[in-house]
Amino acid sequence: MRPFQYLQPATLADVIVAQREAPSAVPATFLAGGTTLIDLMKLGVMQPERVVDLRLAGSDFAQIRFDGATLRLGAFARMAEVADHPVVAASFPVIAQSLSLAASPQLRNMATLGGNVLQRTRCAYFRDPTWAACNKRTPGSGCAAVDGANRQHAVLGTSSQCIATYHGDFAQALMALDASVVLGGPAGTRTIPFAALHRLPGNTPHVETTLHPGEIILDFVIPAGPWASRSLYLKIRDRQSYEYAVASAAVAVAMNGDVVADARIALGGLAAVPWRAHEAEAILRDAVLDEATATRAAEASFAAAVPQSHNAFKIALGRDTLVRALLQAASMEVRHD
Ligand SMILES: Cc1cc2nc3c(=O)[nH]c(=O)nc-3n(C[C@H](O)[C@H](O)[C@H](O)COP(=O)(O)OP(=O)(O)OC[C@H]3O[C@@H](n4cnc5c(N)ncnc54)[C@H](O)[C@@H]3O)c2cc1C
Ligand code: SF4
Repeated sequence: MRPFQYLQPATLADVIVAQREAPSAVPATFLAGGTTLIDLMKLGVMQPERVVDLRLAGSDFAQIRFDGATLRLGAFARMAEVADHPVVAASFPVIAQSLSLAASPQLRNMATLGGNVLQRTRCAYFRDPTWAACNKRTPGSGCAAVDGANRQHAVLGTSSQCIATYHGDFAQALMALDASVVLGGPAGTRTIPFAALHRLPGNTPHVETTLHPGEIILDFVIPAGPWASRSLYLKIRDRQSYEYAVASAAVAVAMNGDVVADARIALGGLAAVPWRAHEAEAILRDAVLDEATATRAAEASFAAAVPQSHNAFKIALGRDTLVRALLQAASMEVRHD
């Protein structure tokens, strides 16, 4: 690991001052739980000059609050405490499940929500600097995965420059529930739809988000629509524990008898970014939710999928995952308080 400057400001105001007064124009890299960042620094993939540890400053943004209409999750809340929170589990099951099915208990105790949504891809070529060709790590260097081992790579949202998968789980739950994200930075505070946080790779796969330099994720804001309590996260992986998704579906459905009043769907393990399946949602709306409708919706979600040499199976797997998730959601027993 290369030497770096380490700062631990006590407040968010101090974080901003530390950035303004920094001798280098390069924005600082933030540290939260450290479970992604420290790994990547040890591997030599990320080599920040300055690391600003947010653990003290972020403590005001670690709360879980629900007022009956909106759930507010602080970006510095730990994955485990949100997964285990009784209100989250009962009223937003897709959130609790996406977190409890991720990583391991030790990691979930350490890792924060903000760090989770900003985790980097697990593409093996990205994580190993001895591979020269990786446009995400070294812009303009090429992409070793295109002609390499790409079984785990994406089939949706890729570009000729990068076919990496976005691997997190929680982001799909946020997408499906139409969450917003509150950001704070040198220019003040702003709120954007969570769906606008991640960028497709296009020609600049190294630019992964729409965050401005020095901006920090403070809160996630999730509306409690009628679909939130009938929601679930189905994660398919190579082994049943401590593994990333090969395919996953976050679904949230509001039903009027057998008929879908509203449906929100996000797919994971399959796309370059957390992926909202708008085509499937349009097919489901006002339809009876049975296997035939779910299959049509799933087929529509993958109409634009582009397989790589080793991952064509992901299209069929993704479709089956979504059908199963939708049928499970239809048969869920939902509490009406
Ligand atoms: C072995 C292993 C298995 C895993 N399995 C899964 C899995 O199955 N599913 C899954 O979803 N995840 C999985 N993960 C990823 C894990 O969940 C993430 O590493 C973790 O959530 C990151 O959170 P953190 O607080 O440790 O972030 P950090 O490592 O501290 O930060 C991650 C990134 O986010 C930035 N950052 C952090 N917080 C903020 C903020 N508030 N504002 C702006 N920038 C910020 C940092 O600068 C850094 O770039 C796994 C990780 C490991 C090591
Ligand atoms: S898929 Fe993306 S992250 Fe992986 S080697 Fe290619 S450019 Fe790098």
